[in-house]
Amino acid sequence: MGTKAVAILSLGGTIAMTADPATGGVVPALSAHDLLAAVPALQGLDVELRVHDFRRLPSASLGFDDLSALADALAEAFRSGCDGAVVTQGTDTIEETAYLLDLLHPGEQPIVVTGAMRNPTLPGADGPANIHAAVIAAAAPELRGAGAVVVLGEEIHAARTVRKSHTTSPAAFTSPATGPLGRLYEGRVHLHGPLAARTTFAGPTIRAAARVGLYTATLGDDGALLAAMAEACDGLVVAAFGVGHVPEGFVAVLERAAARIPVVLASRIGNGPVLEGTYGFAGSEKDLLARGLIRGGHLDAYKARLLLHVLLGQGRNRDETAAAFALAAH
Ligand code: ASP
Repeated sequence: MGTKAVAILSLGGTIAMTADPATGGVVPALSAHDLLAAVPALQGLDVELRVHDFRRLPSASLGFDDLSALADALAEAFRSGCDGAVVTQGTDTIEETAYLLDLLHPGEQPIVVTGAMRNPTLPGADGPANIHAAVIAAAAPELRGAGAVVVLGEEIHAARTVRKSHTTSPAAFTSPATGPLGRLYEGRVHLHGPLAARTTFAGPTIRAAARVGLYTATLGDDGALLAAMAEACDGLVVAAFGVGHVPEGFVAVLERAAARIPVVLASRIGNGPVLEGTYGFAGSEKDLLARGLIRGGHLDAYKARLLLHVLLGQGRNRDETAAAFALAAH
């Protein structure tokens, strides 16, 4: 096996933060080269690194324009022969970025997204170990065809399933429904089973201006705020209770919205599917799907919002959107 080429693209985040005298807090400041310089063990790998200093942002401030440019840069890196890519970024939005990149990447080369829970000024900063593991994963033949994955703490998670499940723990990342795809031991990738088939939607670039709202059902909500929000949206995802239930006051609002824009029924639980045919009361999953909502299946509400954003950007109509969800969210 010859030398592998891996693209490294840095976006900022805790992994790239240093102390800022002006604010007394840490802020994104380190370049991609700085990050790699802190990982001497990379020199022991048979991997050529092609480095792009892409953004220096907290991940909460990444936008669709940044991610569209990132997807283009990744496609270019693969066209020019990279065997895989590593994206370093903040962990706050990593589960969303990784899934968006996964949707837009039909190729075989793995995109490994990583970050750090402890910034470089703290004892036991995890960024260098995560970068080392991510580069190994990006060059690993075992991950060809995996799409985008998130690697932190030596665990490998599919972009489609991964969640940030703790605000501070170094072991914050989990795939609640499936567990991780695999792990890294002694510098090698070990998968727990065969890779699942992926559905991708590469096409025209993301339409940054499309507004896809995400509204969470909560106890006692009468639907007035939902109605106001739906008016302002090009697409809407409802993070419903449990298997897809909302208060009765939402029903007319959602039916009206679904006649105008795609409305996806997801769950606020973040683990397990929205059902389709069990409950029959007003505001149940069966009732809402009969009124034109699109079933979000096994996708959590954040990921459903991204899939809807991509489909809207590609000009898909309601039926095409429902078909795409049936494929991607099963
Ligand atoms: N706390 C975040 C992180 O882990 C900050 C960010 O997402 O940019 O990187």
